[in-house]
Amino acid sequence: MKKKFEISVFWFRRDLRLEDNIALHRALTSGRKVLMCYLFEPMLQSDLHYSQRHWNFVLKSLNYINQQLQAQNTRVLIAREDIFSFLEKLALHFEIKSLFTNNETGLQLTYQRDLQLERYCKLKGISWQTFNHNGVFRALKNRKQWLSLWTDYTNQAPLAFSAQNEDFVSSESLKIVKCAPLDFEFTDEAQQQSGGRDYALKYLNSFIETRHKTYNYHISKPELSRKSCSRLSPYIAWGVLSTREVFHRFSALKKKNAHLRAFLSRLRWQAHFIQKFEMECEMEFQSINKGYHDLNKPINTVYLMAWMKGQTGIPIVDASMRCLNSTGYLNFRMRALVVSFATHLLWLPWQSISHYLARQFLDFEPGIHYPQIQMQAGETGINQIRIYNPIKNSMEHDAEGVFIRKWCPELADVPLRYLHEPYTMPPLEVAFAGIDLNQNYPRPIIDLEQSRIRAAEELYKRKKNTLVLREGRRILAKHTLPNRQVLLDSSRI
Ligand SMILES: Cc1cc2nc3c(=O)[nH]c(=O)nc-3n(C[C@H](O)[C@H](O)[C@H](O)COP(=O)(O)OP(=O)(O)OC[C@H]3O[C@@H](n4cnc5c(N)ncnc54)[C@H](O)[C@@H]3O)c2cc1C
Repeated sequence: MKKKFEISVFWFRRDLRLEDNIALHRALTSGRKVLMCYLFEPMLQSDLHYSQRHWNFVLKSLNYINQQLQAQNTRVLIAREDIFSFLEKLALHFEIKSLFTNNETGLQLTYQRDLQLERYCKLKGISWQTFNHNGVFRALKNRKQWLSLWTDYTNQAPLAFSAQNEDFVSSESLKIVKCAPLDFEFTDEAQQQSGGRDYALKYLNSFIETRHKTYNYHISKPELSRKSCSRLSPYIAWGVLSTREVFHRFSALKKKNAHLRAFLSRLRWQAHFIQKFEMECEMEFQSINKGYHDLNKPINTVYLMAWMKGQTGIPIVDASMRCLNSTGYLNFRMRALVVSFATHLLWLPWQSISHYLARQFLDFEPGIHYPQIQMQAGETGINQIRIYNPIKNSMEHDAEGVFIRKWCPELADVPLRYLHEPYTMPPLEVAFAGIDLNQNYPRPIIDLEQSRIRAAEELYKRKKNTLVLREGRRILAKHTLPNRQVLLDSSRI
């Protein structure tokens, strides 16, 4: 029998780039030709955290990589397969000697799949080599070493992509592999950020050149933040850019003003949050603080649906949800506000909103998503409880009502002095303005003040509970940096 050709496989996951990609770099020095793949895994495509907007973004990013690879006469094999069926199909034609991946701090689903893959590789004699990604480290028990590990990683120069044609399995040879084709076609969604490194670099460059100059002023403003914040989050979450590349672009600048310093500290939180999830991934299902496990909140589906659709009768909440549903993006403050509204004022369990939000956020990153949701839901026991006042936030951050009018066009004719609380408009003024409020826009589905009192009573009482306090100490010991250099973002609210 003819001996099969020996190869190394590099599997793209949340690291959709050729540059500064440690696992790819190592694959290329393995001494064998490299076959690169991306798998639209059926289990993830049907998982409740993901939606078509994510897969569009991924596919566009892969298309860009494939354009880059034309010079190397190879391409990324893109298939709708799980890793096991894919490797089986490859093995019909090649001798797979090694598999290279960057670590993924993902959902339980991907963690279980990786455990299974470890067993599979052992069985098949494939050497699976995995690498720490973006300054997040495996198997840490606490944060004693983390900051120095993260600093060492970040300070090293990003890895350039340099390869020769002969380093790869050629496009021609890839034709023999018959994989299941994708079950969707790319659709360009004009209101959403586009995938691809070309776009990522455009956002990065324009932020460095001009957009950062109003970062601190606009970060909490739902409309203005769309230009003044970096908007790098989907590119970082899907690995189109490494955080190290971004840091190095900024460290090359001679002077860093307050806006850039604020941006860089947020960028550091990226790894800090993901590290927390890496070390305590049960957070996907349960509050990190066990003292909240018996906080039995009912799921009121009428409230839940109204919140999802942006039909709560509170304009800033509705505008935020509608904007998120259409564009896949919301600034930090409004994300926190819609979570606070749902978990405190509507008294919904955070578990009932986490999947929906994950599907909407184009930048869905499990390691930021879950710790942030729990923090905003007030179930960590270590952060200040913040029950956002939606009206106050609306008046402060959308003072002219531009954001509300854009996303709630039925309120377009409501005078500004009533726009944040249209239900307070006297009937005479309603008639005078010729608006039919009840017909077009709902009245508030809850009494804001009563709801705030109920949530505050329950949460502040519980914060003194012995188990909550004990758990708080455990969480601080495990997740806080030595000498309490806390990177938690309590200063932002
Ligand atoms: C409930 C909730 C859920 C969130 N879910 C996600 C998520 O799934 N993915 C995600 O990337 N961010 C998430 N965030 C954090 C934050 O809102 C976004 O990172 C930010 O709004 C993205 O916009 P930007 O890229 O313009 O940010 P910039 O302000 O320009 O920040 C630059 C980068 O720093 C990182 N960053 C910024 N703020 C934070 C933060 N508070 N915590 C951790 N990293 C941060 C991101 O990678 C971001 O791209 C969430 C926040 C909340 C309150």
